[in-house]
Amino acid sequence: MRIHALDVDEALASLKTVAGGLSTGEAARRLTEFGPNHLEEVEREPLLLRCAREFTHFFAIILWIGAGLAFIAEHFDPGQGMARLGVAIVGVIVVNGIFSFWQEYKAERAVAALRQLLPQKVKTLRGGEIVEMLASELVPGDIVLLEEGDYVPADCRLIEVFGLRVNLSTVTGESLAKARNVEPSTEESALQAKNVVLAGTSVVSGQGRGVVFATGMHTEFGRIAHLTQTAGATTSPLQREIARLSRIVASLATGMGVLLFCVGQAMGLPTWENLLFAIGIIVANVPEGLLPTVTLSLAMATQRMARRNALVRHLPAVEALGSTTVICSDKTGTLTQNHMSVQQLWVGGAFLPRADLEKQENLIPEHRELFINAALCHNLKDVDVHGQRTQHGDPMEIALAEIGREMVGDLQGFSRVDEIAFDTDRKRMSVLCETPQGRMLYCKGALETVLATCRFIHFDAGLATIDPAARTRLLAAQDEMAGAGLRVLAFAHRAVADGVVPVDEQEMILAGLIGLEDPPRSAVPEAIARCTAAGIRIIMVTGDHPRTALAISRQIGLVHSEQVSVISGEQLRLMSPTQLQLALDAPEIIFARVAAEQKMRIVEALKKKGEIVAVTGDGVNDAPALKTADIGIAMGISGTDVAKSAADLILLDDNFASIVSAIEEGRAVFENIRKFLTYILSSNIPELVPYLAFVLFRIPLPLTILQILAVDLGTDMLPALALGAEKPDPAVMTRPPRARGERLLSWGLLARAYLFLGMLEATAAMLAFFFVLDTGAWHYGEVLDRADPLYLQATAACLATIVVMQMINLYLCRHPRRSSFTYGLGGNPYLQFGILAELAVIVFILYAPAGNWLFGTAPISGASWLLAIACAALMYLLEELRKAVLRRTTKD
Ligand code: ADP
Ligand code: MG
Repeated sequence: MRIHALDVDEALASLKTVAGGLSTGEAARRLTEFGPNHLEEVEREPLLLRCAREFTHFFAIILWIGAGLAFIAEHFDPGQGMARLGVAIVGVIVVNGIFSFWQEYKAERAVAALRQLLPQKVKTLRGGEIVEMLASELVPGDIVLLEEGDYVPADCRLIEVFGLRVNLSTVTGESLAKARNVEPSTEESALQAKNVVLAGTSVVSGQGRGVVFATGMHTEFGRIAHLTQTAGATTSPLQREIARLSRIVASLATGMGVLLFCVGQAMGLPTWENLLFAIGIIVANVPEGLLPTVTLSLAMATQRMARRNALVRHLPAVEALGSTTVICSDKTGTLTQNHMSVQQLWVGGAFLPRADLEKQENLIPEHRELFINAALCHNLKDVDVHGQRTQHGDPMEIALAEIGREMVGDLQGFSRVDEIAFDTDRKRMSVLCETPQGRMLYCKGALETVLATCRFIHFDAGLATIDPAARTRLLAAQDEMAGAGLRVLAFAHRAVADGVVPVDEQEMILAGLIGLEDPPRSAVPEAIARCTAAGIRIIMVTGDHPRTALAISRQIGLVHSEQVSVISGEQLRLMSPTQLQLALDAPEIIFARVAAEQKMRIVEALKKKGEIVAVTGDGVNDAPALKTADIGIAMGISGTDVAKSAADLILLDDNFASIVSAIEEGRAVFENIRKFLTYILSSNIPELVPYLAFVLFRIPLPLTILQILAVDLGTDMLPALALGAEKPDPAVMTRPPRARGERLLSWGLLARAYLFLGMLEATAAMLAFFFVLDTGAWHYGEVLDRADPLYLQATAACLATIVVMQMINLYLCRHPRRSSFTYGLGGNPYLQFGILAELAVIVFILYAPAGNWLFGTAPISGASWLLAIACAALMYLLEELRKAVLRRTTKD
């Protein structure tokens, strides 16, 4: 059966359905028979294999070699505790591998969970009623309604079209929009047939109805799905920078290991032992856990953003958000509520306040055409939502249709025959209707574009030709309404003789204007103020009238001065890219009456100026601008499928304020990564200094390799992760955006971590070591046996001191300059979990016999604990002092 070769009735019959759709019962039956309409996930790499990879990457292999060497050493030189070291290194590989795997898995789940938040919806006919339902519930035989911006949810044979054009690029690669019709086709394959629309393609313009003939994996798209799904995950610049950083640090560590090996050899240390020290140094300093930690903290940020109604579609968007410098925002629905109400009318040549409409005597029969127009010229749909009929569609059209119906009453005998669709470039739409008086064409839209189709105007005195005087009156009326922030729509109509095709919009009669109020969203003025404080510029880019745009901008505090530069689409068209770039230097600027393609020009010009641009959009025509911008933002409620799939961020509540929350979270991520970098890097110094002292001053080794590993891969891990989950600091939105190219790892950060915090920890660790030795009456030069209880205690004290210092350091790292008194312990329960985990590990190492055996430690005295705590307290004070000096001497 080649469905595209059949005519409409045969096609419906072949699928055992009718134009009114399936019954609910039949649809349910077919759903169990044909299965849900979604693509099965392509076979992913098995979990086990992915887990295995965590044990075979470059750093892991270094560790394996280390373990192997330890076992070989044990074989040739038994009794030196080398086997124990080997076992421990293997343990480290396992712990580290599992931890990394867990982090990556969790990050991936988090991102996948976001996708579930926004399932694709479709409008379907079931038993003659329009119902909105999940695309996954479609079955063959369902009738779906398609309109501009929709993704086609399944393969459909069209049964009715109005100017339907589709973009087939996802299936055929062809990106020019193609017209569709309902005529039977002689094409060989359904792919080429003009009466078929395929799942995964999108509707560029017009509307239509189609009967579903293939769903899920049976669609053409399903057959090629394995090709599209295998596209690799994108990595963010931040992740790449971290990877690069890890490699640099790894090679530094390797260089240092080699150097220390040579020094050790020169000083006559036993070769095996020396080699293992070198490996230990490398392992300790290689930041193998950094990348998964960064990925997880990005993923956790996406979850926090989702809770604040901003849905991130790719991880890289998180950090681009954090560095956004300009937001180009729509007006309607984003800055305003999109709750439209008719406030004022201009009809018959005079204003008519809304309130006066109640007095019907003000209405003469000639006014009727305006209201019939308002009642008929729209794209609203009666949708059945849980048994209740409601009108779905543009809130402006709902308000207009409502007032239209209210004023004309019964609309019996009126029906729509055809439509000339609205698009943001034409800024008007028309419908051809059958009426009791014959065929009529009704047009509504922006005054300029409607006026261009009119020859006459309806004044109360009678019909007049539009002359310059009439035009002036009309424009003055529009300016007055727009100046008050109203959105002004013009209405025109004309009679059409039967049988005349095509019907065009000309020689029309202008019936009047309607002014609608769309109040600003309440959260917007504050969000704008926060952006200003955060050094982020907001540029309104709207299709609305310049005066309306300006009035609303003033209401929400977007512009303040008298010299606002309002650039219209007309002016923009005449500007060269250079002129546009220069125009964008104006401190306060609004773009009005712009077409969607011009949005992209604005975005491009801003990017050329070095800005990081976020742009909002909802329609099909916005997709290029959304793709071009650093951050494309689509509306979750009013946005089309096409816009959403082109965007990086989706606003679940369409609210501008949610963009600002997302930016805040984006900035916080960057700060958080810096926090845990500082934390992790600090402990590298107290790990290195003891070894240097051992080599240079020939003292017993204060901290063994295993103990180093215990810190890096044990006690430090969870607290670092907790720092990655810090909530945004209120101050992140009082600073200008991060400069382009600002590195994560700054000199300031390195100096603080290595030279200040790290050195303090190292000093304390050495102090603790010598304190124990001293109480045991050790004197310089004396060689201690590795199993000597005094040595075990001393090295345990050294380790415990580092761990205690890191516990305090965790709180110090919560902010690089603010006093910890101002933020305290609260706001992040993960920190406390981290500390508890850290405590559990160190208690195990110091007090459990297994821990003692594995790490070469012994329980330490109360005095050692006190010393550690005293050192930590001192570090706390010194760091507070440093922060205080910093706050005094430099501005934030
Ligand atoms: P905005 O940037 O405010 O969302 P739009 O691009 O949606 O602006 O609309 C631009 C202009 O197009 C509006 O000011 C209005 O004059 C006209 N317009 C918008 N929607 C419709 C519609 N459904 N029918 C006719 N004209 C419309
Ligand atoms: Mg709009």
